[in-house]
Amino acid sequence: MKLDYMLDLRKTLNALPKRKLALARLTGKKISVGLETRAGWTGHLEFFVFWCRDCRAFSKDYAHSWPERRYVTCQRCGTNFYFPKLSAVLKEFTETLRFLIRLRFTARRG
Ligand SMILES: [Zn+2]
Repeated sequence: MKLDYMLDLRKTLNALPKRKLALARLTGKKISVGLETRAGWTGHLEFFVFWCRDCRAFSKDYAHSWPERRYVTCQRCGTNFYFPKLSAVLKEFTETLRFLIRLRFTARRG
């Protein structure tokens, strides 16, 4: 693990309320720490602090993949933690339902 990552993680953890960290550790909730950028990036991404059950430590990463499949990766052990965005999951569910209803009516006519 890089030193600059360790220093950034320490700074981020110190800025968060202890109560919020304790809850994240207990429930596995990801704490959004806002948009950040890194050297060589052209834009900003939302970063999260989260508890890794495998190495029993906090980690910090940005959300990877699409909202309905998003995950963060522990910077120590590489374990991925999935936490799909609820609004994206609901949208996907609604679209699937709409498709099935349309399919049913199409099949009746045929
Ligand atoms: Zn880990």
